[in-house]
Amino acid sequence: MDRMTARPRPVIAIDGPVGAGKSTVARALARLLQFAYLNTGAMYRAVAIAARASGIDPDDPALAERLAPMLERVSITFDGERVLLDGRDVSGEVSAPAIGDLASRLSTLAVVRARMREAQRAAGRDGGIVMEGRDIGTAIFPDAEFKFFLTADVNVRAQRRFAELAARGERVTFAAVLAELRERDRRDQERELAPLRRAPDAIEIDATALSVSAVVDAMKLRIDQARRGEKDLKRT
Ligand code: C5P
Repeated sequence: MDRMTARPRPVIAIDGPVGAGKSTVARALARLLQFAYLNTGAMYRAVAIAARASGIDPDDPALAERLAPMLERVSITFDGERVLLDGRDVSGEVSAPAIGDLASRLSTLAVVRARMREAQRAAGRDGGIVMEGRDIGTAIFPDAEFKFFLTADVNVRAQRRFAELAARGERVTFAAVLAELRERDRRDQERELAPLRRAPDAIEIDATALSVSAVVDAMKLRIDQARRGEKDLKRT
């Protein structure tokens, strides 16, 4: 793969639709490889929280202009599992369905994507990272050493998301979760900028009938095989 500068360690990109299990799998794989882990969806969600806190109206025709100064100022960092917005822990708020919906709407804007791209590329510059999202293998790191596209049947994804939210005490119905998930998938796939797509060189894994550990094992196997192959090449 073409790359301007060699990275000391690989970037592993995991993309896919809502609720395919990307976060759980990416976190487990990162732990196994002793790599860093970056949940880029949480970054978009943090932007949504910041926008809401600043009283920005998502239907404002001048939305991009309103967001620009906030995006310049805002700091989004991670402390282990915690998401910090200007140093404030917003981990409790990020997973709310309304925030996911607003994140998906704001993520269609060039000004938002440009800010996220810059931060995500900086985070992955030296590799040694598992990054999950929608556009990691297509737009953020098109030269990632490993690319996976994780999918699952829409009803299974909605069921998982519903169970997750219910366990967290969110008052939601399955029908509402399914409708929200379909709408987010549609918006993510149809947007003009960096739409959700499988990169041509990504390995697709359908997790409908697979456990988390089966998915992680399948990914790890691919990575180990490729790394072994590289070593063999160097030896010859
Ligand atoms: O992954 P998660 O569902 O938390 O992401 C929230 C929203 O952020 C997605 O629906 C998508 O619109 C947006 N997103 C994106 N690109 C990414 C990650 C998330 O556009 N790399």
